[in-house]
Amino acid sequence: ACYSSRMNNHPVRVRYAPSPTGYPHVGNIRTALFNWLYARHTGGSFIVRIEDTDQARSIEGALQNILESLHWLGLDWDEGPEVGGSYGPYLQSQRLDLYGSAVRKLVEQGDAYHCYCTPEELDQMRKEQQKQSLPPRYDRRCRDREYAKAKAESGVVRFATPLQGPPVTTHDLIRGEVTVELSVIDDFVILKSDNFPTYHLANVVDDHEMRISHVMRAEEWLPSTPRHLLLYEALGYKPPAFAHMPMILGPDRAKLSKRHGAAALLEFRDLGYLPDAMLNFLVLLGWSLDDKTEVFSREDLVRHFSLERIGKSPAIFNMDKLEWMNGVYIRGMSTEELAEHLGRALQAYIAKHAPPGTSHLDQDYLMRIAPLLHERFKKLSPEEVWELTSFFLVEDLEYTIPLTPKGLDKEGALSALQAVVQKLCPIAQFDVAVLEDALRSLAEQLDLKTGTLFGAVRMAVTGSTAAPPLFDTLDVLGKDRVMKRLSKAVSTLENG
Ligand code: GLU
Ligand code: ZN
Repeated sequence: ACYSSRMNNHPVRVRYAPSPTGYPHVGNIRTALFNWLYARHTGGSFIVRIEDTDQARSIEGALQNILESLHWLGLDWDEGPEVGGSYGPYLQSQRLDLYGSAVRKLVEQGDAYHCYCTPEELDQMRKEQQKQSLPPRYDRRCRDREYAKAKAESGVVRFATPLQGPPVTTHDLIRGEVTVELSVIDDFVILKSDNFPTYHLANVVDDHEMRISHVMRAEEWLPSTPRHLLLYEALGYKPPAFAHMPMILGPDRAKLSKRHGAAALLEFRDLGYLPDAMLNFLVLLGWSLDDKTEVFSREDLVRHFSLERIGKSPAIFNMDKLEWMNGVYIRGMSTEELAEHLGRALQAYIAKHAPPGTSHLDQDYLMRIAPLLHERFKKLSPEEVWELTSFFLVEDLEYTIPLTPKGLDKEGALSALQAVVQKLCPIAQFDVAVLEDALRSLAEQLDLKTGTLFGAVRMAVTGSTAAPPLFDTLDVLGKDRVMKRLSKAVSTLENG
């Protein structure tokens, strides 16, 4: 009942199958990206399937976060149950009947059996095995029907791994052939006592039902694949192709963790990273076109993506590279786009911190300040944008630095600024060329280096030592605010 009527017959059908047990982080969402790119590159279908069969480990809000992460990166999917005119993701919890019939079939065939062992019994078993230095593993006692029947009526269903037979070989498109002996595969649970399937069973049934052609997932799932292959065989399904993607490590080559800055994907959004920069950064975690190209548009990626260029060796997650990549995308924006971003970031900042006395938030004004600061943004987080732009936005400036530029003491800065006030006061129309002329000739008159005089003015009008080009800044601020700030600086120096 859950199928969309538009199931595509294209040979490439891939899926992203997250469990809602946490918010997707970088490694997890890379899986989504590679699957999406492969589908878009081949013209096949990309499917999102939520593997929510572990009720106990499901986390409130995780599903929402998964969908929002996909949306933020622009990874759209092609089919699913209809919700309000578009497609939702598939939810395994709504497909229990399918798994139930697969389990029944396996039990009837003798490929699976009920196990009624209690947790205490299993615990006891593990302890015995430990004592004898055996690997901990279910000892298959319930495979004996008479034994099992004598026990309680509720329990789990286990797959009856063949006791003899050839080893199981995974033909992995990235890792090559990986072979495992039957003797190391235990009788794993396929249906839990709450009647929910385990990951292994639901995953195999769905990949078959959804006609998935390529299972592309993280390397950590490679050890599960032999179990899946046994299930495919027992159920009479043809297995898909497998491609297990390389691990992602921190710069210290340890398993990626929060310590490396690898938080949930959406935290990067909140820090001011751009989705396109993030996408570009993510794709390089395991894929490359050649040894040099690093910056790819979305269209380039769709055009060039291939499984052949996914590497085997672990990818290294490097925050500095992400910062750099983000800068590349910010610098690549048009003034208009940047101004829009600034507007949004400032709205967010103001909503959160309610700084007093802000004005000048209209798009026209933001279009004037955007080019002056364009090179200096690293992220477009509300905080960074506020920090770099606030002197343009507030009416009144509070000084947090001493107003003495290099080369001038307090007396010197005071008289220089007094002279600036005199000089600028009669200028009716502020304009870059006029201001530059005026201040250059004043520097000469006062026998000051231009850098020193400009520094004093810059500090007085921006409250900062690093600021955009001075004359443009004065022009954008306008005469009113410039004169007010110069006077305030003068009185601060007089009284301080
Ligand atoms: N639910 C699994 C996960 O969270 C899916 C693994 C797979 O793609 O088979 O990663
Ligand atoms: Zn048992």
